[in-house]
Amino acid sequence: MEHIVIIGNGIAGVTAARHIRKLSDKKITIVSAESEYFFSRTALMYVYMGHMKFEHTQPYENHFWKKNRVDLVKGYVTEINTQEKKLQIDGSPDLNYDKLIIATGSKPNKFGWPGQELDGVQGLYSKQDLELLEVNAPNNKVCKRAVIVGGGLIGIELAEMLRTRDIPVTFLVRETSFWNGVLPQGESEMINEHIREHHIDLRLGASLKEIVADENGRVKSVVIEETKEEIECSLVGLTAGVTPNIDFLHDSGIELDRGVKVNRYLETNVKDVYAIGDCAEQHEAIGNRRPVEAVWYTGRMMGEVLAQTICGNRMKYNPGHWFNSAKFLDIEYQTYGWVFPEKKKKESEVHFHWRHPNEKICITIAFDRDSETLLGINTFGIRLRHEVFDRWLNEKRNVDYVMEHLEDANFDPEFYKNFESQIVSKYNTDFGKSIKLKKKNLKRIFQLG
Ligand SMILES: Cc1cc2nc3c(=O)[nH]c(=O)nc-3n(C[C@H](O)[C@H](O)[C@H](O)COP(=O)(O)OP(=O)(O)OC[C@H]3O[C@@H](n4cnc5c(N)ncnc54)[C@H](O)[C@@H]3O)c2cc1C
Repeated sequence: MEHIVIIGNGIAGVTAARHIRKLSDKKITIVSAESEYFFSRTALMYVYMGHMKFEHTQPYENHFWKKNRVDLVKGYVTEINTQEKKLQIDGSPDLNYDKLIIATGSKPNKFGWPGQELDGVQGLYSKQDLELLEVNAPNNKVCKRAVIVGGGLIGIELAEMLRTRDIPVTFLVRETSFWNGVLPQGESEMINEHIREHHIDLRLGASLKEIVADENGRVKSVVIEETKEEIECSLVGLTAGVTPNIDFLHDSGIELDRGVKVNRYLETNVKDVYAIGDCAEQHEAIGNRRPVEAVWYTGRMMGEVLAQTICGNRMKYNPGHWFNSAKFLDIEYQTYGWVFPEKKKKESEVHFHWRHPNEKICITIAFDRDSETLLGINTFGIRLRHEVFDRWLNEKRNVDYVMEHLEDANFDPEFYKNFESQIVSKYNTDFGKSIKLKKKNLKRIFQLG
């Protein structure tokens, strides 16, 4: 029986395993070092915040894997011999494979800052990081102040987590406005305000120079590069992005760059070796997507697609329109298609932006200047229907059509306030149009009749 070995039990690896099992009787083994069973990494923050226990982050009962004949090996793969098709595993016997799937995820970036290895300095990625956070920052007596370095999605999550235990937080963001490498200025500024309103000491245009130790080799303070200011702290959270976790592959003969290089079929340069999830890097970026996509749902998609290929139905990874969602403290964010920030946007990309006068709610719609075709939408505090925007992007709808039918796209519960009429009114003023909003229509939304 063909033996499929998967390294990594994250969303990418377990999705591949589940789908291979659905499609075949092959022998499947998952080798992973971090935890015995698959858990949802995106839910780690809620464990620290007391909303759930770690066990609740595990979507499958422990007996699921045995019942579905997926063997689990807990151990760290130190070497792959692709000639002999064999893995060396720390603390476990060698393992032979017929086909190998590398799904080893990411690791937090460290940029060689002085003091980055001191006690009290950590990232937020793994189960072990969460356990370490409980040691480093159980409360505001032990952790008098935390400094977070790096203004991305994990940084803001860590800030939110620490604030739930009343730990003072200073947040160093190198950019002049939060996440402005991704968000247009109006949105980024709204998030700056929101962070500050949550009593987080947000420092913009501030990078880390060094982390200073006390006499016991623990973090004592950090120094800011631009101002040379020294900030005393008990914890430094390094959240300046992630990199594919592939160090153990350097002598394997598998082609690497930032990640494991793969083609659209998720195949590497070595026969019968594949890579999926955060650790995979496309030879050619797909559309505007990044060659390495460190996102939950793309890992899941890659796992599903590769299962088809492994089971004899060779299938291309075709992720469709970009979408994503996240939370900035208590503001929900969704994005569909492409809305580029000022620095990256082409001249032909026009933005319409509306922001609520008092609340932290806003919307940005990007469209092409000449054809007025919808390019993308970002919303903060307004929930959208995925399938409606996906369809409008497929159909290359005109921005006027989108405005007219905006109620169809709203997915907020019924008792929520709706803002479509205010949004359309501002659009009409900004662009000299006279669009009239159409009433929400379920037939249209679900394409009935
Ligand atoms: C705090 C946090 C919040 C996030 N929130 C979101 C979110 O809201 N939305 C979103 O889209 N994404 C989010 N992400 C990103 C998302 O979690 C990742 O994109 C996703 O988990 C990657 O899945 P994966 O299967 O590729 O790898 P991973 O989940 O990283 O799993 C890989 C596993 O392989 C193991 N491994 C690595 N090397 C070896 C080896 N040599 N031997 C054995 N085992 C090994 C690792 O220990 C790990 O357990 C978040 C990430 C973090 C850290």
